[in-house]
Amino acid sequence: MNDVLSTDAQIVTRFAPSPNGPMHLGHAYSAIVAHDLAKQAGGIFLLRIEDIDGARSRPELVNEYRRNLEWLGLEWVEVPAQSTRLETYEAAARELVSRGLLYPCNCTRKEIEAAGAQHGPDGLVYPGTCKGKLLDPAKSASLRLDAEKAMGEVGQIVWSDEIAGEIIADLQEFGDVVIVRKDAPASYHLAATVDDAADGVTLVTRGKDLFAATHIHRVLQALLKLPALHYYHHDLLLDKDGKKLAKRRGSPALAERRTGGESGLMLAEQLRLHKLKGGTFA
Ligand code: GLU
Repeated sequence: MNDVLSTDAQIVTRFAPSPNGPMHLGHAYSAIVAHDLAKQAGGIFLLRIEDIDGARSRPELVNEYRRNLEWLGLEWVEVPAQSTRLETYEAAARELVSRGLLYPCNCTRKEIEAAGAQHGPDGLVYPGTCKGKLLDPAKSASLRLDAEKAMGEVGQIVWSDEIAGEIIADLQEFGDVVIVRKDAPASYHLAATVDDAADGVTLVTRGKDLFAATHIHRVLQALLKLPALHYYHHDLLLDKDGKKLAKRRGSPALAERRTGGESGLMLAEQLRLHKLKGGTFA
């Protein structure tokens, strides 16, 4: 652990699920970690519904998330969902565009693959095909961050993870990531960065699968002059085969356990104690 948990400043954490599928054990674990880190420090635990992905987001699941959190015995303050905050993302994107930090791109995934793009920590590493091109403004396009220009502006910056320590922000392995999507006013990276600042989050807690994304978020914070936050990337629950426990691998939805009469408080305790048989939670 380093500084943020041992200072007097108020700790504000958040659980920020995307309701694209039902809440599962991995979500519960993430929520408990964030909740407990805040509560142990007399801080605040927020819930933010990340429903910016109009095509995949399932509004009917949002109440399930709330009910499950309650069943697990957690207390939270809910902040506005992302779908109600679109103009704040637009304003941030405009600011980046006005400084020449974003450029339009209308490449399809197939075209990016055909250009020989490698896989990086955040998907395909965009080879920069559209950079410097004048695209027809009438055609829909996504906006990508000019990583070279962005790094030139921010210089060397660091971010700190409560477990991993100090890390130098580096966009090299990502290429020019999408900041504004073709179908939404922000990518996850822009929306989460803008929201965490607006919500007064001080300690971002989430799974290690999002560790790499923090490089991008830290650079966006620096570009947009937002506070540098602290991070806590927790271990992921693994299944019997050592794979990430995720909904697509048949992990039972929490709602089934709840409505099946299981005690949420006991489940939360088990998760807290990390009673993982041989490192797993089957
Ligand atoms: N909405 C993201 C997800 O459900 C989490 C984002 C975050 O914690 O930064 O995977």
